[in-house]
Parts: sequence; structure tokens; C-alpha cells
Amino acid sequence: MQIKALKFGGSSLADAEQFKKVANIVKAEESRRYVVVSAPGKRFDGDTKITDMLYEAYSIADAGEDMTDLFAKIRGRFESIITGLGLDLDLSKDFDKIFSAFHHHPGRDYAASRGEYLNGKIFAAYIGYDFIDPAKCIFFKENGTFDAERTNEVLSAVLAEHERAVLPGFYGSMPNGTVKTFSRGGSDITGSIVARAVNADLYENWTDVSGFLMADPRVVHNPKPIDEITYRELRELSYMGAGVLHEDAIFPVRAAGISINIRNTNRPEDRGTMIVPHSEYYNYETVITGIAGKKGLSVINIEKDMMNSEIGFGRKVLEVLEEHNVSFEHLPSGIDTMGVVISDAELAGKDEAIVHDIKKAVSPDHISVDGGLALIAVVGRGMISAKGTAGRVFRAIAAKGVNIRMIDQGSSEINIIIGVDESDYLRAIEAIYEEFVK
Ligand code: ADP
Ligand code: ASP
Ligand code: MG
Repeated sequence: MQIKALKFGGSSLADAEQFKKVANIVKAEESRRYVVVSAPGKRFDGDTKITDMLYEAYSIADAGEDMTDLFAKIRGRFESIITGLGLDLDLSKDFDKIFSAFHHHPGRDYAASRGEYLNGKIFAAYIGYDFIDPAKCIFFKENGTFDAERTNEVLSAVLAEHERAVLPGFYGSMPNGTVKTFSRGGSDITGSIVARAVNADLYENWTDVSGFLMADPRVVHNPKPIDEITYRELRELSYMGAGVLHEDAIFPVRAAGISINIRNTNRPEDRGTMIVPHSEYYNYETVITGIAGKKGLSVINIEKDMMNSEIGFGRKVLEVLEEHNVSFEHLPSGIDTMGVVISDAELAGKDEAIVHDIKKAVSPDHISVDGGLALIAVVGRGMISAKGTAGRVFRAIAAKGVNIRMIDQGSSEINIIIGVDESDYLRAIEAIYEEFVK
């Protein structure tokens, strides 16, 4: 029999009605045996995700203040799901335990993870699958990174003993047993880890859009869905902010050659997007596969004549960043110039000290930090064979009067990255979309 691993996102499980849709989807195919769930997400615009409520409740409790009311709201949301499903399930003990744990500083991660934990228990009871707590079979290393080997060994042994199971997404445990979460949106990673552990034929990732769209639907009106995309293209797009799938969710399934199918819980009849290891096919009509971007970036511009012939120049610059514990996003460089693109969040409060240390390390002719930068990535395997794509991108943007601050063409030939002012971000993406798609 085929085995499918499924993951349902927060909006797919936001209330009892959504739970019913999810159960119908799972039951529609025998092969849908392993199900990863997120915490209840937004039910409507302006609603708050359970995960955000838990973070807030925890910070109130951590500060020694009273979070009883907020906790009651959180509990109320889970209870309305249980009642709405007509389930005979009493989670009082769990709620009491979590409430009291919040007062003993169990950590933000533990707090946030309870959303997935409780939702997993409810969905397992509703659908009649076994419940498995990932704290016992998904592991992190001492340094906080995911322990793929140990996890795969233990998790595949555990899952082999369960024909059908529900697992909460988003968390695992540290070597000392404390709960640790992945970064936000991390249930996608759990789904991928589970798919690999059971050697699934397919990883279905169910969300609230009918697949990966060619651009963020909040930027471009009604963008075209992508039928098929390779892991590499997807990685480029999700790294650059296309929020559908967590950027790290690709690694476990890629190692095992498992494809991912992005599907819409509210429109299960739609085929969605297939994310595949390789593809010969590409859409000649559009050439590009997708567009993504992010704002909130700054660039450190460093100029020095003949920097290219100065051995160790790049290393010295990057060492300064390392000393300040800052990671960079991109390194667009020319013969006498080097740019280091860093997110504002990483750079906050450290820019003056970094500039000072870079001056000391490499004595540049000129150095400046320029903020307000947005990056846009145009990604597509079709770009390797279709000549002139970069030119079309630049002309389309220029025709809208947008100034290009930076260009960085990845050596992989499947992406072009353009830096523009944050205020030009929307216009530039629309221009590119219109040029290639409309
Ligand atoms: P889930 O809660 O199911 O994990 P997410 O909110 O994490 O769902 O991801 C789905 C959302 O990603 C969509 O509702 C959409 O607003 C957003 N999104 C951003 N870029 C894209 C894109 N290129 N294609 C589809 N959706 C996108
Ligand atoms: N609930 C978590 C979050 O909101 C994890 C997830 O949804 O994937 O980030
Ligand atoms: Mg998500």
C-alpha cells in the first residue's frame, strides 16, 4: 500500500468546521496514514493564532503577572473545537498541567508547542488515529540544530509500530528533554521529517491556497498557480519570503527523493503544486517559475581599489560579522566593491560597531550602510535556456520608473536577485509579473 504523510496548517484546523474538512480529506484515501497538525490558526482576518496567544500568555506569566484571562481564552478555543465536533474528550488535566507549568519558567518554546500538542490530541481522538508526542522522537542537538540522524532512526522505529498516527508539528526535544520548537511555521518541517521516516510516496502539505502561486497573493492580484516546481527553485523562493512552505522543510524529503504536493483544504478538488526533485519540463509561456521578495534589509557597501587582489579581504570582512554574531543574506560584489546584505533585525544596534571593525580590518576607501532595501528574486529553471531573461526583468522594472539599487545573479542560473527601495517593492514585483505572465 502507498504511504502518504500529510501536514495541515493552522488555518486548516482553526475551528470545528475546518477539522471536519480535514478528517474528510484524510479518510478519502487509505494511504493517508501519518498526519502532522499545526495549532489552530486564524479563523478570520484580524483573528489571533493560538501560537501567538501562547507566546503572549507565557511572557505575562514569565514577568510574574496574571495571565488567567488570556489562558481561559486559549482554553476556550480548544474547548469549542471539542464541543463543535461532538467529541467525548476531557483535556482538563492537560490544561491544568500547562497552566501551572507556565508559572515555573518552562521556556517560551514549551509554551508555544502546547498549541500543536493539544490540537494533535483532539484530532487524533476525532479521527481515531494513535497520538504520538514528538518530544519523544524528534530531537535537537546540544547546539540547538536539528538532529536528523538520531531523529530518523528513532522516529522510523516508532512509526513502524503505528499503522496510523497523528503527530503535533513544530517541536521536538533537546538532549536534556526540554521542549524545543523549530522557527515559526515549523510544522512544515515536522511533516517533511515524518514523510522521510516512513519513506512516504508523497508528502501532502495542506494549506489555505491551491498551491504555490507565481507571486505572493497579497502583492499580485490573483496570481497564477505553479503546476510543478523543483526543490531548488522552491528553496530560492521560500528563502526570499514566499511564505507557503518553511524554507527548511525541503531538506528531509529531498534527501529521500520524496515529492511534496501543496494542496488547499478548502478546495480539495484542486491539484495544487507538485514540488519535485528534478524536472525536464518547464513552462515555455512564462519562462520564469515564480517571484518572491522581502523588505527590511540594509546593505553595507565597501569600496577599495584593487580589493580583488588583496588576499583574505572577503574573509576579514566576514570575520567581523562573525564576531558580532551577525549572518548575512547576500554578497553582491564587483572588482573594487563588495556589498553585504543584512536584515535590519540582525543589524539592529550593531551597525556602528561593525563599520568601525571593518575599517580596522581592511582599511576601505569608502564604507557606508544604506537601509530601506528590498530584495526581489525572479526564479526559474527555464531561465537557463531562455536567453535574455535578465534584460527583460530590468527593462520591465525601469519602464515603471523604479531604480535598481543592486543586482545579484546567482551562479546557479536559476535566479536573479534585484535590490530596490522598499517604497518601490510592490511596483517592481507587479512590473515583473506583468512582463512574464500577463
Ligand atoms: P499554513 O498555516 O497552512 O502553514 P501559511 O500561512 O504558512 O499557511 O502559508 C500559506 C499562505 O502563504 C497563503 O495564505 C498566502 O497568503 C501566503 N503566500 C505567500 N507567498 C505565496 C505564494 N507565492 N504562493 C502561495 N501563497 C503564498
Ligand atoms: N503554530 C506554529 C506557528 O504559528 C507552527 C506552524 O504553524 O507551522 O508558527
Ligand atoms: Mg505555514
